[in-house]
Amino acid sequence: MAATGVQLIPSPEEIMQILKRTGAFREGHFVYPNGKHTAHYFQMPLAFRYYDTARVLAVALSRKFRVERDIASQLPKVAIISPSSGGIPVAFGVRDALNAEQIYWAEQDGGKRSFRQYINQGEINPCIVVDDIIRSGKAIDETVELLRNLGAPVIGCGAIVRFSSAPDSTEEVPVKSLVEYDEKFYQSAADCLMCKQGVPEEHVRF
Ligand SMILES: [Zn+2]
Repeated sequence: MAATGVQLIPSPEEIMQILKRTGAFREGHFVYPNGKHTAHYFQMPLAFRYYDTARVLAVALSRKFRVERDIASQLPKVAIISPSSGGIPVAFGVRDALNAEQIYWAEQDGGKRSFRQYINQGEINPCIVVDDIIRSGKAIDETVELLRNLGAPVIGCGAIVRFSSAPDSTEEVPVKSLVEYDEKFYQSAADCLMCKQGVPEEHVRF
């Protein structure tokens, strides 16, 4: 640690090394449900199966929030929110690092995102929304909308990885990430390089 007390955040290269080492960053030939093809896939839960790795990633993300005066001044009366099950380990890790009071997570049921914890208006502290990865930003947008309907202010938002094609802010706040990844999407099999090379394809859920 630096004598000034400034805590370093690992570089994007260091984060990518962790994701490769844990198998979370995969190379190959992947087909998304929307029909797009890519040569890489982030299987983020693979990085979060190791407690020490999960902690390094969550602490690093938490530091991006702690340096924001608006956020730091509201701690610990803050809620950490995950848009989906994939973000739950991130939410618990960030909560731990920030000593935030509350955690909530949304789930998708029949295509509709909701909180199953029977939250009522006024019960939620100012919110920081965190996820493992932001691919399109849809999950974040839907979660921010849910929170808005509950009257809870969103004071922060972030993920371990954000695709650079996804929005870099919500309506309320900028999106923080440890890695911005410029994924090359092939719109269909017809223009996919791996299809042309006959690389076996794997269909991914999202
Ligand atoms: Zn392909």
